[in-house]
Amino acid sequence: MSVNPERLKKDFPIFSNNPDLIYLDNAATTQKPSSVIRAVSDYYATINSNVHRGVYKISEEATEMYEGSRKKVSEFIGAREPAEIVFLRNTTEAINLLSYTLGRKLKKGDEVLLTEMEHHSNLVPWYFLREAGIVIKFAKMKADFTLDYEDFQDKLNTRTVIASFTEVSNVLGTINDVRELSNMCRENSTISIVDAAQSVPHMSVDVRAIGCDFLAFSGHKMLAPAGIGVLYGRKDLLDRMHPFLGGGEMIGEVDYNGATYADVPWKFEAGTQNVEGAVGLSAAIDYLKSIGMDSVREHERSMIDHIFKIMDTIGDLRQFGPMDSGKRGGVFSFNIGDVKPFDLLNQSNTKFAISHSIHPHDLAAFLDRNNIAVRSGHHCAMPLMGRMGVSSTARVSPYIYNDERELDLFFDALSNCRKEMAR
Ligand code: PMP
Repeated sequence: MSVNPERLKKDFPIFSNNPDLIYLDNAATTQKPSSVIRAVSDYYATINSNVHRGVYKISEEATEMYEGSRKKVSEFIGAREPAEIVFLRNTTEAINLLSYTLGRKLKKGDEVLLTEMEHHSNLVPWYFLREAGIVIKFAKMKADFTLDYEDFQDKLNTRTVIASFTEVSNVLGTINDVRELSNMCRENSTISIVDAAQSVPHMSVDVRAIGCDFLAFSGHKMLAPAGIGVLYGRKDLLDRMHPFLGGGEMIGEVDYNGATYADVPWKFEAGTQNVEGAVGLSAAIDYLKSIGMDSVREHERSMIDHIFKIMDTIGDLRQFGPMDSGKRGGVFSFNIGDVKPFDLLNQSNTKFAISHSIHPHDLAAFLDRNNIAVRSGHHCAMPLMGRMGVSSTARVSPYIYNDERELDLFFDALSNCRKEMAR
């Protein structure tokens, strides 16, 4: 089934409330369909209560919904069982959990391998470990904005305990072959972690086919409410891990001498949970499944192909990402004007070498006056910006409710912006 953006748009109240809005910032967060909004509101209106605590009816129903959502997530990403799904706030919290719990076992001189195209969420939590003498290494990006797999392989060595990498770059759109990377990790007895914040919402993801040990994503980027995210982990690994946060509901028994912990996944879910978020996530998965993840992916690919077709109409537009929509998700980052050539492979190229004749923030502000929402800035990937020789880019990230007409309007506005700024 192919995606029909015009029809889907009607499911999203934000567009009837803002009829002129062209929302192209879906890599930051997505809009919410009525079915998700209704699921959350119905939950509040009918069975709102705390889960796993009450023996009364609505609490039991709420618990059933919460655990039902876990099962749905588990099936959606091909986990072996619901116990492999930990509900957290978002991708950021999931990676912090991993750096904290796995980091406890690391020794001075152990290595963590990342890539040059990671979001700050998959950098900073690992940087914390430097205080304990852990060495952080980065697999290189190639000049065509794809990952250098040979360099990744070369950097895996007997000291590499953990490797953590994104499936889709939120700046470049580059799709990394996480199956291949996880394979390399397994052969090296390295724990593999996939940052799937930009992949689970946009394409079919199967954790068993990938063969990774952990994978993280955020509900708000896939039509669900903010504040609900997922950490998938292999059950045998989760079982052996220390809890992250301590508190209510994550315990077995507590006395004045200490505590034992609950089984997974509850061991990692301390305190009152975001039940309404999980309910909303379940409704979001139903919505995405009704479209089909392969159709979502095809639609985004066609959006990128359309952008490729028209981007040359804007002089001196420089785009950052692979020029093959098959290797790229629905993310298009670019700058306009006065772009000095630079050598991506030059490792000393970590300073900002390009000055923009139109700064991305000015561009985004101009587009906003045309009701077009795009992102500008460093996209929480400052080291990658440095590697590309820029301080920021503008970014367009379409989703299921965007169509070619909106992209054409975006390019028209871009062209007007250029004319106006050149005056
Ligand atoms: N990783 C990637 C690749 C992302 O794009 C983002 C969000 N921009 C994150 C991690 C962090 O997601 P969250 O803010 O939902 O934790």
